[in-house]
Amino acid sequence: MSSTTRRVDVIIVGASLAAAAAARRLHDAGMETLIIEKRELPRHKICSGILSPRGHRFLLENFGPIPPQALHNPTSCRGVTFHFPSMVSMSMDFFGGTTPHLHRKYADHWAIESSGAEVHGATSFIRLQQQGEEQIVTTRKKGGDEVQYRSRYVIGADGPSSPVLRSLYPDYPQQIPWFFVGQKFHEIIDCPLDEAYFHFWFHPELGHYTWSHARDGRQIVGVGFKRGDNFHQRHQHVANYLQDKHGVRLKPADVDHEGCAENFGPSLINRYVFGKGNVLITGQAAGFLNMIGEGMSCALHSGAIAGEAIIEAAIHNRELQPLYRDMIATEVRRTTDQWNPLKIAFGRPHEADFPAALMALPLKDRLNVLRDMWRFVCLYKEFKWGREIMRESIARLKYGHYPGQRWL
Ligand SMILES: Cc1cc2nc3c(=O)[nH]c(=O)nc-3n(C[C@H](O)[C@H](O)[C@H](O)COP(=O)(O)OP(=O)(O)OC[C@H]3O[C@@H](n4cnc5c(N)ncnc54)[C@H](O)[C@@H]3O)c2cc1C
Repeated sequence: MSSTTRRVDVIIVGASLAAAAAARRLHDAGMETLIIEKRELPRHKICSGILSPRGHRFLLENFGPIPPQALHNPTSCRGVTFHFPSMVSMSMDFFGGTTPHLHRKYADHWAIESSGAEVHGATSFIRLQQQGEEQIVTTRKKGGDEVQYRSRYVIGADGPSSPVLRSLYPDYPQQIPWFFVGQKFHEIIDCPLDEAYFHFWFHPELGHYTWSHARDGRQIVGVGFKRGDNFHQRHQHVANYLQDKHGVRLKPADVDHEGCAENFGPSLINRYVFGKGNVLITGQAAGFLNMIGEGMSCALHSGAIAGEAIIEAAIHNRELQPLYRDMIATEVRRTTDQWNPLKIAFGRPHEADFPAALMALPLKDRLNVLRDMWRFVCLYKEFKWGREIMRESIARLKYGHYPGQRWL
C-alpha cells in the first residue's frame, strides 16, 4: 500500500455523463473534485447514443455545442418506431425536432474534460471506508499499487453494477433482477427500416428489449433478456425475424459484438438507491432509466443534482442525505412518471406523443397494438412489479410525488 493520502473535497467514481454533470457544478462552485475512471480515457461505452431532447438541452446549456467527433452517423435521430407482432408499426417524432446520435466514447470525454475537474483514467475504485465526515477511498491505477484518497464527499456515478453502491449495500445485487443487453453490428445488404428512427420491438418472443438502428454504415441488432440466457442464440433469432418479417437483409455479424449487465427495474417501482452519509449514488447506479432504456438525460440531471446537493450541504453545513433526497425528488418524478400507467394514459410523460400516434391508427390496428402491448407486459409478470407500480402510481396521484421511504 502506498503511503500517499491526498485530500480533496469530492471524489467522483466513474467518468460518464452523470459524473460530468456533477463535476461541472462542483468545479464551478470552487470545490476540489477528482474523478476516477477504471478504463483508459477516452473510454468506450456500450450505448445506442440516442440522446433525448431534454438531455440535449442539458448538454447545450451546460457544456455548449456538441463537437462533430462526438457524433455517430446518422448524426441525428428523428424519433422512435415501435413494431408489434401484429405487424403494425408506428413512428413518433421527438418533441422539438431531431436529437443527436452521440458517440459515447468522445461525447462523454468531451463533457468530462469540459467539467474542469481533475480526471484520472485507468484508475479503479477498490473500496470505501466511512470515518464520520471523512471518506477514505482506495483506488488502484492499472498495473500499479493501491492509492488512498481522503475526501469529505464521494459520488458513485459508476453505472448499473456500481461498486460504490455495493460497498454501501453488499446485499443489494441479490435484491433486484439482472438483465443482459447485447448488440451486434452488421454490414447491410438491404434494410427497409428508416435510418432516421430508433426501432424497438414490443414482441415477447424476441425478448425483454429488442432494438435496431443504423450506425456508421452498419446496422445494430440488439437484444435484452433476463441474465443467464444465450446472447448468440437470442441475437440470431432476432436477426432471422427481421429478415423474415421486415425484409432486413444483413451480412453475418462483425466480430466486435458487446454486452453488459443492466439494472432495469428500480425506476419502474420507485426503488432508487441514493447512498449513505456523505456518499451519494447517482445516474444509472441509483436506478435512473427512462422508457425504452433511455438513461443519458436522467444521468445528466441526477448527476447535476448530486453536485448541487453537496454544494448546499457544504455551504450551509447541513446533513447531505436529506438534502439530496429532497432535491432528487423532481428527477424521480420525471423518470418514474414514464412508467406510471395513469400518467401514460392521462398525462404526457414522454418526449414523443404515443397517444397521438396510437389514435392515428385505424381502429383495428389500435386494438391489435393494445393487445400486443399487454402480451409484452405479461413477459415481465415473473418480477411481480405490477402491484408495486399500481401502488406507487396511486401514491403519486394522492401526494403529488413518489414516497421517499422506499429509497435506500
Ligand atoms: C445497449 C445499450 C443501449 C443504450 N442506449 C441508450 C440510448 O440510446 N439513449 C440513452 O439515453 N441511454 C441509453 N442507454 C443507457 C445509458 O447508456 C446509461 O443509462 C447511461 O450511460 C448512464 O450514465 P451514468 O453516467 O449513470 O453511468 P455509465 O454511463 O454507466 O458510466 C459509469 C462509469 O463508471 C465507470 N466505473 C465502473 N466501475 C468503476 C470502478 N470500479 N472504478 C472506476 N470507474 C468505474 C465505468 O467504466 C463507466 O465509465 C443504453 C444502454 C445500453 C447498455
